[in-house]
This record gives sequence, structure tokens and C-alpha cells, in this order.
Amino acid sequence: MSKIHFSYRKEVPVEMHKVKIVQKLTLLPAKERLQKMKEAGFNTFGIHNGDIFMDMLTDSGVNAMSDNMQAAMLRADDAYAGSETFYRMNDKLTEIFGIEHLLPAHQGRACEHIIAQYLVKPGSTVIMNYHFTTSKAHVTRLGGKVEELVIDEGLKVSSTCPFKGNIDLNKVKACVEKEGAENIAYLRLEAGTNLIGGQPISYANMKEATEYAKSLGIPTILDASLLQDNLYFIKTREESMKDKSIREITRMIADLFDIIYFSARKFGFGRGGGILVRDDSMYTEMEDYITMFEGFLTYGGMSVKEMEALIIGFEETMDFDTIAHGPSFINYCVNELVDLGVPMITPAGGLGAHIDAKSFVDHIKAEEYPAGSLVAALYLCGGIRGMERGTLSEERNPDGSERIASVEMVRLALPRRVFTLSQIEYVIDRVKWLYDHRHMIGGLRFVHEPKTLRFFTGKLEPVSDWPEKLIEAYIKDFGEDQ
Ligand SMILES: *Cc1c(COP(=O)(O)O)cnc(C)c1O
Repeated sequence: MSKIHFSYRKEVPVEMHKVKIVQKLTLLPAKERLQKMKEAGFNTFGIHNGDIFMDMLTDSGVNAMSDNMQAAMLRADDAYAGSETFYRMNDKLTEIFGIEHLLPAHQGRACEHIIAQYLVKPGSTVIMNYHFTTSKAHVTRLGGKVEELVIDEGLKVSSTCPFKGNIDLNKVKACVEKEGAENIAYLRLEAGTNLIGGQPISYANMKEATEYAKSLGIPTILDASLLQDNLYFIKTREESMKDKSIREITRMIADLFDIIYFSARKFGFGRGGGILVRDDSMYTEMEDYITMFEGFLTYGGMSVKEMEALIIGFEETMDFDTIAHGPSFINYCVNELVDLGVPMITPAGGLGAHIDAKSFVDHIKAEEYPAGSLVAALYLCGGIRGMERGTLSEERNPDGSERIASVEMVRLALPRRVFTLSQIEYVIDRVKWLYDHRHMIGGLRFVHEPKTLRFFTGKLEPVSDWPEKLIEAYIKDFGEDQ
């Protein structure tokens, strides 16, 4: 929750910023949305952003900049080599994380590419609390394998565990014994987790896991892409940390790791990425990959304007009021929906509100994509674009059968500082309406199914005329023009 409390009105989270620049939104009439959905092959990735009312697909590269971030862009120093902007960025990150070397990269997956290229050998293992799509892909591409050793509670849909992203130390030890410490390329902790609902990892858990890895000479790596939410959760949920400032907590975490990398499309409210490296020789050995794959060492594929804005964005991330906005809005959205009886992933995490699609549309077979169908229905009934995280995002087994995802989720991402509370109320209202009409939602099947990453570009069709019937019911309640 934000620090402002109410005495006469119901408690709601309060924005600690005001709006200075706006972008007009359109809510297409319901029947036009149905038409757009058909044209997009019932895949929300295919819809033009202008036809969407609430874009809750992702928090990547769509967070709002502050006035100070935009103002800073004007002083960006354009130079192929030796840009002053780079040195300012390096200094700011060194001040915050206490690590001297910065390798710039164009986004998070580029950092993962370079780290994996440097440390992963064929047959080696990378231990993670949980994988992220791109972090896993870079390891397996080089012949390594990934062990995801999150605590069992982390994969439970509904829970009261405050740190569902924690790694299970017993599983880590068993894995190291089985593989041999010399075959572990690195320990990668993701704080917070992306694919299991933005769930955080505690400081105590990071400390224990990294100390164990260090005692065996295993490099420790932090994926800090979603660190801003995790910092908020450590301060508000971890008893021993509640009197520490965000800056102190950040530094305590940083001290545990050899390498820290981030996607600045999330961390810092901009676009870009960076790898912080403690060890001089490690840094020197990784440098070559930056010049080969990203750009010269003082920009790494980023625009210097974005870099200049990020310097301010990193500093803003050290401010509790700023980083409380996302998690407290998500918490509000999740709790209201739970009160209305809608099955949600609990407790609320960072990144977005996550709907448990498996329970929401439990009448839809896994092979007809429950989460994919629900995402399509949410666009039809409200112009809201979420992201499917379930069977549709998996690839088929070698024998052509569906690989059924263990969790079927719909993520409603909350880009930071973008939406107001009334817009969140609107989303809650439409999700609840849809829940009351859930039996009208039907499944989907592919008409064009790409071999890889089919969820991005695949085209589907409904298994019956359920979208038409659903739109009719929607218009009956809300009218033609909504
Ligand atoms: C988004 C993300 C990445 C990848 O970053 P991109 O900038 O999208 O390439 C890596 N790790 C985590 C935890 C992320 O959320």
C-alpha cells in the first residue's frame, strides 16, 4: 500500500505523481472489436495498439518516464566512442550497486546472450530459482541445461507465502552434488520472477544461496530486470529489512553477486540493458562480445538519449513512493477480484495481476487453450489486452501432441506510472462481468501454427460461434458503443 491512509473513505492506493502528458485512448464499439479480433486471428499480438483501450500485455518498454527523465535527454552526449553520457551512467550504477564495471547492451536478452556465451559450456548446468524465456534459450542454445529449483510453494496458484520466488536450498545442494560443482556454470537468481507471477525472493534466501555457491567457487548472477518490485516486497514483507532504506537494501543485495544484469525496458523506466561486473578479468574477457554483438563499449546498442534518461530513472527507483505504485495497484486489483470470487494467483506479486485461467474457464480443454481463449474474450469484452501464459505459449512435443502447461495464467501487466485507479476499476469490472459469463467463453484452434514461438504470430479461430454470442450478451448489458 502507499503511505497515505484514509479515515472516511475506503482505503485505495494513491498515485504519488501527477499526469503531465497524455495519450488519447479509444474504446472501439464492441462489434468492431469482434471484427479486429477476427482479422488478428484471435491472437492479441496481432492487434494494432490504436484499437486497444487498456494495453496490459507487458511492462517492457512501456513504462512512463518522468519530467526529469525527459529533460535529461537533451543533454545526451552523442559520440561513437567515449560518450560522457556513458560515464555518467556507469557512475550512477556504481554508486547504487557498488560495482565498478558496466557493459552496456541493447536489452535484457542481449545481456543474457553475452553472459551465457562467456560462461556456459556444452553439458554445463545453470541453476535458477525460475527461468525466463530468453534466459533459458541462451543457455540451451549453447548446449547447457537449466535447473529450476524454486520452492514448491512457488508453483501453487493460491498461497500466503510472501516470497514464492525463493530458491530451495536443499534442491540446490542435491543438484550440485549430482552434477559436480565444477559443472555448474553459474547460479542465476531472478528477483522478482517473471513467469510465476512476479513473485519476489527474500534477501535472506538470496544471501543463503549465494554464500553456498561462493563456498564452491560457483559464479553468482542476479537478473535485476524486475528488481524494483522485489525491493518494495523486501521492505514491506521481510521483517528484518523494514527499517532499511531502498538504497541500503539494493546495496546489500548487490554485495552478494559477482554479476548483475538488467533489462532497462523495465528497470529504470527506459529502454536498454546493462551488465555490471565486479571482477576485472571477467570484465575484460566479456568486453569483446559487446563490441562484436552490441556496439561500441560506450553505448552497446542503446540510444544515448535513453541512457541519459535511465540515469535519472535508476535514481527514481531508489525512491519508495515511486516503486510502491506498481505493487500497490496490483495488490488492489488482485484483492478486489479475489473478493469478487475471481480465481487469481495469490498473494499479489509485481509486474501485473495474474488470473488463474485454468479455474476461470475450467470447462475449456487444455488443447483448446483456456488462457488463450480468456485473453481473446477480455479484448472482446472491454478492449483489454492481457498476455496468455499457458499451453498456447508452449511448443508441441516431438510426436506432435500438445505440451500441457502446468499453470494456465492470464497476465494483466501494469506498466509503471501509466494507468490511474479508475482504469483499474474498469478492468476489475469487466473481468468480473466475464467471470459471471464464463460459460459462454469457448476454445480456440490453430488455422496457422508456426513451428517456434507460435503464440507471437500464430492465427487461430474459435471452435464455435461463441464470440458472436458473447458480444451479444455484452451489448445487452453495456450498449453498442462500449
Ligand atoms: C524482460 C526480462 C528479460 C529480458 O529482457 P528484454 O529487455 O525483454 O530482452 C530478462 N529477464 C527478466 C526477468 C525479464 O523480465
